[in-house]
Amino acid sequence: MSAPTRTVVTVSTGDPGTAANIAADVRAGRRTAVDVLAQHFARIDAHEGDVHAFNLVLRQQAGEQAATVDAAVAAGIDPGPLAGIPVALKDNLCTRGIETTCSSRILEGWKPPYSATVVQRLAAAGAVAVGKTNLDEFAMGSSTENSAFGPTRNPHDHTKVPGGSSGGSAAAVAAGFASIALGSDTGGSIRQPASLCGIVGMKPTYGLVSRYGLVAYASSLDQIGPFAHTVEDAALLLENIAGHDPADSTSIDAPPPSLVAAVRRGRADGVPGLRVGIVEELSGEGMSSDVLARLDVAVDRLRTAGATVGHVSVESTKLCLSAYYLIAPAEASSNLSRYDGVRYGLRVSQGAANVEEMMANTRAAGFGAEVKRRIMLGTYALSAGYYDAYYGQAQKVRTLIIEDFRRAYQQFDVLITPTSPTTAFSFGDKTADPFTMYLTDVCTIPSNLAGDPAISVPCGVGDDGMPIGVQLLGPALSEAVLLGAAAVIEKGN
Ligand code: GLN
Repeated sequence: MSAPTRTVVTVSTGDPGTAANIAADVRAGRRTAVDVLAQHFARIDAHEGDVHAFNLVLRQQAGEQAATVDAAVAAGIDPGPLAGIPVALKDNLCTRGIETTCSSRILEGWKPPYSATVVQRLAAAGAVAVGKTNLDEFAMGSSTENSAFGPTRNPHDHTKVPGGSSGGSAAAVAAGFASIALGSDTGGSIRQPASLCGIVGMKPTYGLVSRYGLVAYASSLDQIGPFAHTVEDAALLLENIAGHDPADSTSIDAPPPSLVAAVRRGRADGVPGLRVGIVEELSGEGMSSDVLARLDVAVDRLRTAGATVGHVSVESTKLCLSAYYLIAPAEASSNLSRYDGVRYGLRVSQGAANVEEMMANTRAAGFGAEVKRRIMLGTYALSAGYYDAYYGQAQKVRTLIIEDFRRAYQQFDVLITPTSPTTAFSFGDKTADPFTMYLTDVCTIPSNLAGDPAISVPCGVGDDGMPIGVQLLGPALSEAVLLGAAAVIEKGN
């Protein structure tokens, strides 16, 4: 086997530094946003051909945004807390007048008439959007192999997947194309690629971040969240996108939490008295031994920093995959009915005698195999006569998992599990059997069903030298606690 090719960056001198450093320097006039952007574009020029993190690089717009930030600093105006930080956007986040494809043929050429709330908030805070990143089509997948535009490669080893569905965003940060990135997480799509690419990724509490302008996959599970090299950068990004948005009816009406301070506290003071529970069902069978060894290391770091550690059984986690693969496809089948050849992107009218045939032709040509599989699964689960047996049953399991977690959180402040059962796998390894691909999400799906936050933080490498992440889970709105604990694990790296 040939030696793995690596394009990954570690944050150190000579590199652009952390996002927090970039913003501090740009705001103080020590560096310009234009220079910082040029550093990132140099890496894109050198390595994007191999990695394929982006569907679209926003060269001109990014240059203009960076120049605007520098002009503000020169005029004595503060450009905002994310001043000059290059950020990559998953290509299921709407950007006004800029193609938003969801890595699907069916949306090719479609330009949204508005930007997602998170995209607007990033711009308002002074961040610079460098590009739209590749994903599994409509965020359905765990490897980015389901993209209609070809897969993204793991920057640590180009023969391996970056994870998914936000594989492009994770790879863009790991490869140094962007300092931070946004992804969406419906069943693990931020945390699993973060783990496989060796960076931090967080799924916030459902409702903490506005979903307005996020192309819907499974609306009761979807949540936008940050990717970053460091826990502090993830906190900084999340702090600036969180908070109430009247345009999203599920948005929590409360002021955004203070998160960077929590990270600094965790780093400085440790986690005295924090009660940490190891989830029994997700820390044994089905997990590879090198992943479990790193989980032990993370637990030791928390213990050394003052935590008390115990074991906890969350039995219904065993039912989560089955429930998820009914609920998510059911919601997807409804959400994706809007791609009809009339309202968005692709239209295949050739050979169609009427509108219905045009719609069928368009959907047959525009959707990939996995998306069609989900639409069929979901339509079946919702159909008359089967609804109670499948969808209704899955909703009951969802209630069980919520109650199970509530019980666990009476004993423990946070729970810990691996993020992914294995390190990054090779291309084609899991594409033949969809079920083996679905199994990669076994650790991440429970918190989506519960609506709770969870974070993946890097904790060393496996037997193959590839990154391993551990996952911390907490009750709704426990982001500050999770980030503080993640900072303790990170500090040991
Ligand atoms: N892999 C899971 C799926 O295919 C989760 C994807 C996601 O979180 N968007 O549904």
